[in-house]
Amino acid sequence: MLSTVSATSEERVEFRTCPLCEATCGLELTLKGEDVVKVRGDADDVFSQGFICPKGANLGALHGDPDRLTTPLVRRNGELVEATWEEAFAAVAEGLGPILAEDRASIATYFGNLNAHNLSNLLYNPAFIKSIGSRHRYSASSMDQLPKQLANGLMFGSSLTIAIPDIDNTDLMVLIGANPLASNGSMMTVPNFRGRLRDIRKRGGRVVVIDPKRTRTAEEADLHLAIRPGTDALLLFAIVNVLVEEGLVPQGLERLGNAAQHLAGLDDVCEASADFAPETVAPRCGITADEIRTLARDLAATERACVYGRIGTCTQEFGTLASWLVDVVNTLTGHLDREGGVMFPSQAAAALGGTKGKGRGIAMGRWKSRVRERVEVMGELPISTLAEEIDTPGEGQIRALFTVGGNPILSSPNASRLAAAFEKLEFMVSVDIYLNETTKFADVVFPTPSPLRRSHYDVAFYQLSVRNIANYSPALLPRLNGMLDEWETLLKLTLICAGQSPDTPIDDLDAFIALQLASSEVKREGSPAAGRDPAELVELCEPLVGPERMLELMLRCGPYGDGFGANNEGLTLDKLKANPHGIDLGPLKPRLPEVLRTPTGMVELAPEQMLADIPRLFASLERHDDKLVLISRRHLRTNNSWMHNLPKLVSGPELCTLQVHPTDADAFGLTDGGEAVVSSRVGSVKAPVEVTDAIMPGVVSLPHGFGHGASGTSMKVANALGGVNSNLLTDENAIDELSGNSVLNGIPVELAPA
Ligand code: SF4
Repeated sequence: MLSTVSATSEERVEFRTCPLCEATCGLELTLKGEDVVKVRGDADDVFSQGFICPKGANLGALHGDPDRLTTPLVRRNGELVEATWEEAFAAVAEGLGPILAEDRASIATYFGNLNAHNLSNLLYNPAFIKSIGSRHRYSASSMDQLPKQLANGLMFGSSLTIAIPDIDNTDLMVLIGANPLASNGSMMTVPNFRGRLRDIRKRGGRVVVIDPKRTRTAEEADLHLAIRPGTDALLLFAIVNVLVEEGLVPQGLERLGNAAQHLAGLDDVCEASADFAPETVAPRCGITADEIRTLARDLAATERACVYGRIGTCTQEFGTLASWLVDVVNTLTGHLDREGGVMFPSQAAAALGGTKGKGRGIAMGRWKSRVRERVEVMGELPISTLAEEIDTPGEGQIRALFTVGGNPILSSPNASRLAAAFEKLEFMVSVDIYLNETTKFADVVFPTPSPLRRSHYDVAFYQLSVRNIANYSPALLPRLNGMLDEWETLLKLTLICAGQSPDTPIDDLDAFIALQLASSEVKREGSPAAGRDPAELVELCEPLVGPERMLELMLRCGPYGDGFGANNEGLTLDKLKANPHGIDLGPLKPRLPEVLRTPTGMVELAPEQMLADIPRLFASLERHDDKLVLISRRHLRTNNSWMHNLPKLVSGPELCTLQVHPTDADAFGLTDGGEAVVSSRVGSVKAPVEVTDAIMPGVVSLPHGFGHGASGTSMKVANALGGVNSNLLTDENAIDELSGNSVLNGIPVELAPA
């Protein structure tokens, strides 16, 4: 079970995929013994070709961070103290045992953003969740991309069927609510976003950014249109309106060719746009009717064009409608599933299941949250309901919580209520790299290995990639002090939740999970191993265990796989190991209708849930914009809350400032460098003021993920950093009706000098 890699005192160069954001860049690391001497971009990486950002350059600092946990912690007499792994698992069995026996439905799980970057967690979380048997499932998705997944799920039949911009071939890219020069791209896996945007312009194309702020991405664009937060769906509907009214839709459908045969609901969506003429929405959006008409005409007239919406279009009150309308516009302008438009990746591992071209669609509404009766969406409840599910007495009240790779106390709405709720839990277990604002509440904390001491493969992000890529990174260093990898910890917790002794070895359970995977792979239509004996396939993976065995199964049964002998040229894990710079599986290609999993086998352009939510959007036109609103922002050197303990990433000018337009600064008596009190329905914070005309009037911005320094945490650099938690202002009652996603942009606030 222990890693076989060993550290030497000689300098050596290794290559691996950066696990710190969605861009999946290749890194070249120079190691000496256990230490990272140098990190630079891997010039030979087939995807990133040498690109690196400041976060990737600090992977060595994360590896060597003395504040990272290396030993389990167990609460004794109110204090978290170091314990052995055996003691920690025994403490879980003891503390959780009575709750498991009495009411396992009262145990909740929360999975943070880190899980998407972690092979172990993506592969072993499902069994862990299942072993608990509770519907209290929460994740960072419902304060991030859930609206996009829901919209695409309703349109295409699967939450992972996401149409990705063909950025390398497009001539017009319209980005809404996205700042990839800070995020490095999201729901779109693309190293060197800036270089690729510049390439669009070099080949004579154009880039348009629509955002309440003149972001770094907007500064690179040909055109920036400042939009009032939360009005993206109105803007997009007005674009549809122009396309319909000016007779541009048939031209788009003609461009779609055969794909046009697979569209349903075309008349309905066109009809629904009638109330959203540019002149009607312009006063709300802050973008003129002429600008909207020009944008619609440009999209229709450009052979290769795409619209890309991201965090700003999701974390707002019309998140699902806005996400849906992004793809409606892409479709009506003739850019869905077309080169230079948006297309569906075909990734090497985790191929889309089910029958090609038709399926059951996505599941939602199978259960409701207890207090607010919010419906489950694709297996989880909104994070905005977690605090009330803990602090409201009654049957079904949450009594215990697992958190894995997340810091919801800093990242989720009304953080002070959530922190107070965590105090009430009977038992809490965390799996995390740090003792942070969330894990400090746990009764048992399990550490996780350094990113260099575990293997890596981006199962999630190659599904969103602008090229089809496969790249595997083995662990570079042995694990320390008998530390377990996440998959081993998760399997142990799975066994405990299933009622087994904490001393039970994990091997049988691991083999059972692999057999289950093989069983589903051999049944999958189009699998090169279809019809084979699953037990034989598992045997053929020996001596691999754990995530490597699972990955081997997925790769070999996947669309490029060797099918365990069916295609000797096909992919295997060994082939990936022999190609440390990755394997380029080619550009995206049109995939309609085979990617569809809707019950009708059609692209549903007008799902009934969307149509039913339109009156709510229409009603928003009546609002008056006299209230100041808060939006969030991100910085290139941070990733939510968890990179604030690396000195080089947080040095320099203060990152956590309240950005205010000069007009608003004058109106509220604020000065650059002074302090302001920002208040919302749920709380109030004091923040340093940065007066800038980059933000539009009527809007202020705080970055998210700050506010470290709580007692009982051990992130020394982050704790000395200062900064305020913007989620002390965000409101758990503000959600996108369809998805239940948190509204983190467009929060009404009041300002005053401090
Ligand atoms: S862009 Fe993302 S993947 Fe690339 S080096 Fe930076 S953090 Fe790593």
